[in-house]
Amino acid sequence: LVEIDSVSKRFGPHLVLDDVSLTVPHGSVTAIIGPSGSGKSTLLRTVNHLEKVDGGLIRVDGELIGYRRSGDNLHELPEREVRRQRSKIGFVFQDFNLFPHLTVLENVVEAPVSAQRRDRSEVTELARSLLARVGLAEKEGAYPRQLSGGQQQRVAIARALALRPAVLLLDEPTSALDPELVGEVLEVIRGLADEGVAMVVVTHEIGFARDVADTVVFLDRGRVVEVGPPASVIDAPSHERTRAFLRRFR
Ligand code: ATP
Ligand code: MG
Repeated sequence: LVEIDSVSKRFGPHLVLDDVSLTVPHGSVTAIIGPSGSGKSTLLRTVNHLEKVDGGLIRVDGELIGYRRSGDNLHELPEREVRRQRSKIGFVFQDFNLFPHLTVLENVVEAPVSAQRRDRSEVTELARSLLARVGLAEKEGAYPRQLSGGQQQRVAIARALALRPAVLLLDEPTSALDPELVGEVLEVIRGLADEGVAMVVVTHEIGFARDVADTVVFLDRGRVVEVGPPASVIDAPSHERTRAFLRRFR
């Protein structure tokens, strides 16, 4: 369960997130759509404290992210604690971000062993089953540069899942891919959604958002303009700004 409660974020004078609230229940998929520069990536990055908020709170499974409360005050957590919290939040970036000098299997095994101190042989077994699940069982010994973009992104998804995250955050997971490779990655994400993996996905794939998301959020200029099931936000938006945005995808 992810709770984003009245989050604000500034870069200098620029208010990039303006009082954003959002709840992502267990096992549900939220898609965030909106124009370039509307704050979608920044919002995802606040969830694992890659960006500090200027106002509001974020909780994941009830745990305050980045801070500890004492009385009425919030104290920032030490970096070591933030890293522990981050390791429970899976993050998949647009540009995969795999370790180039590690094999596919090593990429998946690395963080659970080093950041979560889990048993290497147990993690290796899990990693192999995750690679099978994303259709890459036979690539475990390959290096990232030997894979297509779609394959690399599927490794990145397996790597995020190996942390056994409470939630998986995906920031435009298909936007760096050649068009013919988009489908295989969306298929993997769709499968995870069917299995009940909680996800927040920033996407320009409106058809995919309609099919997979339980909730769609339209973000514009740092504000949640409209939120609800795809049948309302995508198929029958009530705000003119949402309608204007969606017209571009017809
Ligand atoms: P896109 O669809 O292009 O990825 P986005 O909705 O993800 O856009 P963000 O990357 O969250 O948008 O950026 C929101 C705003 O914050 C933009 O105006 C951007 O220029 C600004 N911004 C983002 N990161 C920083 C930063 N580190 N320093 C200053 N400004 C930033
Ligand atoms: Mg972005």
